[in-house]
Amino acid sequence: MELKELYRDVILDHNRSPRNFGRLHPADAQAAGHNPLCGDKLNLTLRLQGDQVIDLRFDGQGCAISTASASLMTEAVKGRSRDEIARLFEQVHTLLTAPTGEPSPQLGKLLALAGVAEFPARVKCASLCWHTLNAALQRAPAPVSTE
Ligand code: ZN
Repeated sequence: MELKELYRDVILDHNRSPRNFGRLHPADAQAAGHNPLCGDKLNLTLRLQGDQVIDLRFDGQGCAISTASASLMTEAVKGRSRDEIARLFEQVHTLLTAPTGEPSPQLGKLLALAGVAEFPARVKCASLCWHTLNAALQRAPAPVSTE
């Protein structure tokens, strides 16, 4: 199977059956995102433990790219710390906007979004969930450190 077909299959699969779809009650943090260029709308709820996102859910209405990207993101960031998430977002952003050379292997399944770089109008669809996650994390109370 061609790599491009594989990527397309991952996007189609995550759009058809999005992972971690829904809302957490209660949630430690939440944010809503909107991409007016396409009409994508996204709600994100998080559960945090210290510095880690231990669970997250999303719902909303969006195009296939935005839904698949949010679904892939929830799988990729669950259990990760804020710093790890920030680094991952940077890598995703590079993949979407300025792919050069070999993408980071840390991206894992998120590599399925590589094709989006060929369609600049769709970059915001794919990055909406990440911006929404950032907004939710910024609003969340910072973990108390006793160090
Ligand atoms: Zn979209």
